[in-house]
Amino acid sequence: MSDTMSDAMSDAPSEQFMRQALEQAKHAWDLGEVPVGAVVVKDGVVIARGYNQPIGKHDPTAHAEIVALRAAAEVLGNYRLPGCELYVTLEPCVMCSGAMMHARLAKVVYGATDPKTGACGSVVDLFGQEQLNHHTEVSGGVMAEECGAMLKRFFAARRAAAAAARRGDAAAE
Ligand code: ZN
Repeated sequence: MSDTMSDAMSDAPSEQFMRQALEQAKHAWDLGEVPVGAVVVKDGVVIARGYNQPIGKHDPTAHAEIVALRAAAEVLGNYRLPGCELYVTLEPCVMCSGAMMHARLAKVVYGATDPKTGACGSVVDLFGQEQLNHHTEVSGGVMAEECGAMLKRFFAARRAAAAAARRGDAAAE
């Protein structure tokens, strides 16, 4: 990331799309899933959306990005998504980053970094591998604070609920 003029000017649309990805993340939260959301954009238009739902779907691959990529491929009638950009609230994992490369995605924009499973530089840097034949452009840190705050609130609420349940158990004994 740099703070050149062109980057500053491109902030507005990317924030608009990241806000839509955050809306998707809220759907995940409502279902008790870790709140991560994604949208796929083509020619400045959102063509597909997805939110994290591995628990409810009994599907370890049902990350927000995969759900959104599948929906976008369906919409375009193409297993590849050239010229498409994916906006996601959290740094993609290895699986999702791999899927984006298979989709020939033009660009991925993420919000918060993920020090545990991030594959855009936090744990590994899949997109920096010279040997891979397709290169997806990566941009991180868009609305990172908002994206990270939603995850923090979610885990804090979950810890509080677990603590309350333990207190309830203790009181019942
Ligand atoms: Zn993932």
